[in-house]
Amino acid sequence: MRIKHCVIALGFCGLSLSASAGEKFEQLTGVLPSPSEARLASGAPGPAYWQQEANYVIEVELDETEAMILGSETIEYVNHSPHSLSYLWIQLDQNMFSNHSKGTRSDQGPNFSAKSGEPASIRDSSFRTFLYKRDFEGGVRLGKVADKDGTDLPYTIVETNMRIDLPESLASGDSIVLNIDWEYPIVDEANARRTGRMELDGGDYVYQIAQWYPRMCAYYDEVGWQTKPYLASGEFALEFGKFEVSITVPEDFVVAATGELQNPEEVLSKKERKRLEKAMDSQAPVLIVTEEEAAKKLGSPAKGKATWKFAAESVRDFAFAASRGYIWDAKGVEIGEGKALAMSAFPKEAEAVWGRYSTEAVALTLDVYSDLVYEYPYPVAWSTWGPVGGMEYPMISFQSSWEIEEDGTYTEDVRNYVISVIVHEVGHIWFPMIVNSDERQWMWQDEGFNTFVEDIATTQFDERLKDSYRNSVKRVVERMAKKDDPIIMISADSLTSRGYQAYSKPALGLTLLRESILGRDLFDFAFQEYARRWAFKRPTPADFFRTMEDASGVDLDWFWRAWFYTNDHVDLAVESVESFVLDNGDPETSKAWDRKERYEDPDTPMIARLEGQADYASFDEQLQDWYYSYDEFAVTDKEREDYQKSQDDLEDWQKEVRQFEGNIYVAKIKNLGGVPMPVELEVDFEDGSVERIDAPAEIWRHGDEVVRVPFVSEKAVVSVLLDPENAYADADLSNNVFPRKIHEARFKLKSRDKSDNPMQDALSSEKDAEGDDPVSED
Ligand SMILES: [Zn+2]
Repeated sequence: MRIKHCVIALGFCGLSLSASAGEKFEQLTGVLPSPSEARLASGAPGPAYWQQEANYVIEVELDETEAMILGSETIEYVNHSPHSLSYLWIQLDQNMFSNHSKGTRSDQGPNFSAKSGEPASIRDSSFRTFLYKRDFEGGVRLGKVADKDGTDLPYTIVETNMRIDLPESLASGDSIVLNIDWEYPIVDEANARRTGRMELDGGDYVYQIAQWYPRMCAYYDEVGWQTKPYLASGEFALEFGKFEVSITVPEDFVVAATGELQNPEEVLSKKERKRLEKAMDSQAPVLIVTEEEAAKKLGSPAKGKATWKFAAESVRDFAFAASRGYIWDAKGVEIGEGKALAMSAFPKEAEAVWGRYSTEAVALTLDVYSDLVYEYPYPVAWSTWGPVGGMEYPMISFQSSWEIEEDGTYTEDVRNYVISVIVHEVGHIWFPMIVNSDERQWMWQDEGFNTFVEDIATTQFDERLKDSYRNSVKRVVERMAKKDDPIIMISADSLTSRGYQAYSKPALGLTLLRESILGRDLFDFAFQEYARRWAFKRPTPADFFRTMEDASGVDLDWFWRAWFYTNDHVDLAVESVESFVLDNGDPETSKAWDRKERYEDPDTPMIARLEGQADYASFDEQLQDWYYSYDEFAVTDKEREDYQKSQDDLEDWQKEVRQFEGNIYVAKIKNLGGVPMPVELEVDFEDGSVERIDAPAEIWRHGDEVVRVPFVSEKAVVSVLLDPENAYADADLSNNVFPRKIHEARFKLKSRDKSDNPMQDALSSEKDAEGDDPVSED
């Protein structure tokens, strides 16, 4: 490496201050909403924090023949807000499935346009959904909407919401009881957006039923009534409460649901109850319903009905899955002092992967999330298989129908996908089912947090899943470098690239904070504090940003700003490394440096050619005055004396600093991507030793494009490597090393493609036909 050697002279000038303020390090004041006594500046809920409460008693029948949900509910709504409410808003999400809903009408469908002359290639399943949406007469048909005495209440339906006008305002602190009857047709697999039914081989169905009952809209301090319509992307904003739900299904169904089963003796056989008891203390999953037992029920549905009764407390929602084709297994998982049941329900079509992995993936999730986020507070956690690609509800998750071959084989992608999607959906029980953010507005606040913890959990499952995580980080870093995606902080329904904006980019941001910027101790304390503060409450993004700073004691506004509010990326580069030694003013050494520097650069060709050539003055002494033999770099007695005199005037500390003999190195680091990041350098020295130099992100606080990282050493530096552990999501590693390395890559050869030759095809098939003489049989 060529490190330029320079000499520094100690002067007495003052430091000059950079005039431009570092915008990237400005506080988020003005960007975040002002704190209040409800939401404190520390990020905690304050003394004035309030939230509404909704308790439900529901009776529902799943009508298999008509594919209908028929329900009747009593809602107790408690107004804990300081306001009086003259009307209430209720969500009727099923209206989204109507063929004239805003969701359907604002769906632009697949892109049918030809690309560069070729017809568009559209996935057949997307085309099926496109057609199905236009035909399906979905939506809620309301029966009674009444008060506790059965008196009808006037209501107005606005898209996926309903406003109920109250005869008298609901005062702060009061509660009201509503009675609602409704029904709706169950959507098919073709458009099973978070809920629906799916046909198994042989004509039986699996049902995953969600957003199925009229639910109270959220009403809260920052938004008022959250009445954004359900358009299919932005999920839900809901209130906590108690649920008692009775689900009537054909007698031979297995029902998995939010909550604890209240009447096992009525709906389970003695054998099943015994197995369930055994499962609680078993290391491996125990089958409650075996494949053979499920197979016997298929194709010959039972005539009778059964009612499964569930109860749940402190939940924001309720969902269930049901089928006579369900195999059911379970095992107990220790959570603190107690235990929870990890369970799975899946048909034989999924058995090869689900039988081996599903309940174990649920158990892993309960373990890791309880440890890292918040102790699992519920008695059960379900993974259920059905038409829904991946969705979460309290205590139950829905997963998809990824293809497993009839012979029981599957691709590695399917296996890895099943495990990680189960961990993901069960992980959502923490975000947003316990830490209840407003998903209709902020998708990243549950998806990003959950993906972050999911990555920690799945990479603990086995080696193969580490690889898929490695690849996903790579994809996010590459994507950030393109700078063409909108920022994270936009509303859920406007996201153009959900997977990146709401899942992987926020998750990688948290990983950087944990692994590289704050360190695990500080991060985990602060992240757990966020979960503790906001468990069973409703935090906003500001509450998260503020809590992380308040609990870690580290100003992170620069990070929230860069990662969540811009589409900058990370690309720091080592621009140069310079080396300096001290010129202490002693003319003996000082002048030697001067001489060296004068003649350091090689002569230009013209000067070089003159070397040894006689000049005028050498022939004619007349031309030789005093300067003819003057050596400006020779030290004179006067210079020696002056130097000595100047030394005598110095104070002791001034003499001491002039004794310095090491090297000062200065690495210049350029921020090409825009995101400020800590600077970590690995320095290789000539003697083979290695040293680490680092600077926190605050080194960028003055808004510089290039910063200096100085370090001192006696030894000679060979090379400097920035971000040696690849810990900061740097998009271009090639400029992280100084001096630069030659990039090594490979290329492949390919032959020219043969074009179609219809003439040859035709002639050869004619020839085949000629030779096709009937073979005489012996
Ligand atoms: Zn998710």
